[in-house]
Amino acid sequence: MSLDELKARLSELNNVNRAAAILGWDQQTMMPPGGAEARARQLGTLSKIAHEIQTADETGRLIEDAKKEVAGMDYESDDAALVRAAEYDYEQATKLPTDLVVAITETTTLAHEVWVEARANNDFEHFRPMLEKIFDLTHQMVECFGYKEVPYDALLDQYERGMPTREVKRLFDELKQELVPLVKAIAENQDAVDDSVLHRSYPIDKQREFGEKVVSAYGFDFKRGRQDLAVHPFCTHFSANDVRITTRFDPNWINPALFGTMHESGHGMYEQGVAQNLDNSILGSGTSLGVHESQSRMWENIVGRSRGFWGHFYPELQALFPDALNGVTVDTFYKAINKSYPSFIRVEADEVTYNLHIMVRFELEQAIMNGELAIKDLPAAWNAKFEDYLGIVPPNDAQGVLQDVHWSSGLIGYFPTYSLGNLLSVQFYDKAVQEHPEIPNEIARGKFDTLLNWLRVNIHQHGRKFTPQELVQHVTGTSIQTGPFMRYLTEKYTDIYNL
Ligand code: ZN
Repeated sequence: MSLDELKARLSELNNVNRAAAILGWDQQTMMPPGGAEARARQLGTLSKIAHEIQTADETGRLIEDAKKEVAGMDYESDDAALVRAAEYDYEQATKLPTDLVVAITETTTLAHEVWVEARANNDFEHFRPMLEKIFDLTHQMVECFGYKEVPYDALLDQYERGMPTREVKRLFDELKQELVPLVKAIAENQDAVDDSVLHRSYPIDKQREFGEKVVSAYGFDFKRGRQDLAVHPFCTHFSANDVRITTRFDPNWINPALFGTMHESGHGMYEQGVAQNLDNSILGSGTSLGVHESQSRMWENIVGRSRGFWGHFYPELQALFPDALNGVTVDTFYKAINKSYPSFIRVEADEVTYNLHIMVRFELEQAIMNGELAIKDLPAAWNAKFEDYLGIVPPNDAQGVLQDVHWSSGLIGYFPTYSLGNLLSVQFYDKAVQEHPEIPNEIARGKFDTLLNWLRVNIHQHGRKFTPQELVQHVTGTSIQTGPFMRYLTEKYTDIYNL
């Protein structure tokens, strides 16, 4: 049976990729800086092995034969979905020569350490040659993939399959039209919310204790996952039964770890929820970054920054941090964690301004890919766009163009998926509440299983069986929309800021 042979082969491919993920996790959490060069070689070798299995003639032959075997099967069956995904991956991978894949892996692995140094020293010039090389390799990759309308399409497609640049632009234009007046209305009422209580002394061990308690209550399973420290928090998985989330602590600011942990647990629960029978296959991962981010943002924002949630959890938080929170009411705390104002760092941005941070990156990446912007001019272009969208100019590059890990990792075309995830988080949540109107009341009692179960059944269990478009259509009956997100934001912020 070619199908069985194909499964065995793809399982090996999956093993190589997951092993590479372990090395990647270690690099960002444990590895001393001296390990960078050896790690680049090791990851380069694994990516070469994976690419060779992925693109071998034998893989192509097995896919062709397996297609005949699954021809009569239900479209939604695991086997039919596996062969569809395998064919897509094969077509994509065979467009890239092995030496380009190895060059990208080695360059981006080295670039990570250079970026860390450049950010620490606020020195864009230190990072510039690496970034030029990364964009050069990205151009080569785009030429290999080909594209329908603009080069950026080929990049976006890697993270949000089937989503054209044109459609993202349309959604962003819609969003911008409504966000800009909302940001302005909030700015005019800025005194309504004071968030100084968040910037007090919050001992790190207690922060960890509270964060792990919350995400355990959400349903993140620490028997099949763990949390460690990282400079730039992320989530990765080696199996549905071994999911790693990461966080960072600031002893004088509660937000990064608290909301970061909720966020990463949303990614983690998606991976832990993939059906066990898909685990040892190329279908054993979330279907796209946008859908992934819908999960993290739902648990971080819609649940974790809601009045109901804090009505339940605030007394516990207050008991853990009496020095910081004695005499602070739950209403003051709720408003503080939802304060909205233009800020420099994307990962710390509030729900209203967040998508403007993404639009800045989306437009700069396109300008570089279209040859309209040189890397040497990127910091100035960043600052100009930032002033345009958020009305403020970063005081230095560390708080500006150097802040994100993505470009050093070669992740270009990735940022828009954050905004798509924000939009989807509300569409999915609305649907869950429509089917289970008791969800908000359960959240207010610290119970999350109805929501998590709904996500498991409708989204998590399917892994990569369906494309993001298929999944979104299936779950919501429509495509990605801005309407539900803007209604959610407007209602929430009208209340908080008395607009
Ligand atoms: Zn995320």
